[in-house]
Amino acid sequence: MSRFKVAIVGAGPAGYFAAQALQNLQSDELQFSIDMIERLPTPWGLVRSGVAPDHPKIKTVSKVFEKIAVEPGFRLFANVELGSDLTIEQLKEKYDAVIIATGSAVGKKLGIPGEDLPGSMSAATFVPWYNSHPDFKDHTIDLSCDTAVVIGAGNVAMDVARILALEPSELDPTDTADHAIDSFKASAVRKVVISARRGAEHAAFTSPELRDLPKLEHTNVIMNKSDISDAISRAGDEPAKDVKSNLDAMLLIAEKEATNHERTITFQFLATPIEIKGAGRVEEVVFQKTGSDEIFSIKCGLVITAIGYEATALAGVPYEKGKVVNTDGRVHENVYVVGWAKRGPSGVIGTNKSDAADVMKLLVDDLTTPKSAGDITDVITHNRVVTQAHWQVINQAEVAAGEPLGKPRRKAVDREELLRLGRL
Ligand code: NAP
Repeated sequence: MSRFKVAIVGAGPAGYFAAQALQNLQSDELQFSIDMIERLPTPWGLVRSGVAPDHPKIKTVSKVFEKIAVEPGFRLFANVELGSDLTIEQLKEKYDAVIIATGSAVGKKLGIPGEDLPGSMSAATFVPWYNSHPDFKDHTIDLSCDTAVVIGAGNVAMDVARILALEPSELDPTDTADHAIDSFKASAVRKVVISARRGAEHAAFTSPELRDLPKLEHTNVIMNKSDISDAISRAGDEPAKDVKSNLDAMLLIAEKEATNHERTITFQFLATPIEIKGAGRVEEVVFQKTGSDEIFSIKCGLVITAIGYEATALAGVPYEKGKVVNTDGRVHENVYVVGWAKRGPSGVIGTNKSDAADVMKLLVDDLTTPKSAGDITDVITHNRVVTQAHWQVINQAEVAAGEPLGKPRRKAVDREELLRLGRL
């Protein structure tokens, strides 16, 4: 029997599905010891700090992660950072294979004038802020304006717009950060515009998310019927299945009678942002009607861009165009990559399952004989490693703190608080 040691860097969906794929490939002859390394004191990646808090069903995949984590041979090393606590070279020595599963956390930039004005930010800041990510807890998001513009036509833009335009008490029974709920309750934002640079037939929203929008109880959702019927004509007689499904869902929204809720999400299409203007902070976004010379602007005090993400570079790992350079998940020597760091920020959480399974098959094909070069604990010098046992204590404490408030959990937002909860 051969037992190989594998390190997975990043405790998000792609990392867990890679671990699961390895566990499924085990046999009497082939066994794995899997160490998952995570820089935050908490695992689950985007399931904790990305998925919208009003979509709790999507987060139930964490139950799968917890089953993977209690399989024999699996160890969690959270609060351990590649770069400061250990290096990729050390991992390559200590393990038969290293899997990078660090996702893509950096928001892409529009590259237009005014993008860095106060009041303009990426969803890569706004989303982890409302989801209690410790690195974003001290951001102040100024919601004193009436109108916010969200740029992008994907599901992240939709999450951001919805969270901004919900009646904030709807977030009370969710695990939204307390600081964010307080800000939303004090928010003056009543109009949110989602702006797409192409027509509705090219929107990257998915139809289940679109179909949920008219169910919002306290928010008007507005699409211009002619925008959608023009898009239906442009899509032709035989649009792809997902395009048709999206356009059907958008037509339902466009045909729905407007309500008189004071909170509104309005979709605009064929609008290319060309400048963000303001004296010292955001005051308006200037758009060009895509494919024409027509210029128009929207007065607003907040702009959130949700136009995709790039991977954060790790020392010793080659990067290009926001992704780890790889061939089908192979990086170099005994290093592999899975998830968004491999293929870019696309697909839903489940997409990572088949993706990771394919890469793990290649990894197993590459294995020869196990090498023994000591343990990761020889390298980590601090004694505040969050193991699976510590995480289970943190997890239970958060769930218990949420119970009397009718929340699935009350997340701790501060690193020290998280470590204290884990009795570290
Ligand atoms: P996305 O789906 O790739 O959408 C990005 C959007 O940004 C596109 O509409 C794109 O338009 C636009 N864009 C890109 N560059 C732009 C620019 N320079 N100016 C204006 N617009 C620009 O990305 P995402 O919304 O970040 O989502 C990432 C992935 O996570 C997606 O697969 C998404 O479905 C998934 N996700 C799923 C859920 C869910 O299931 N509920 C929730 C959140 C995210 P073009 O098409 O014109 O480039």
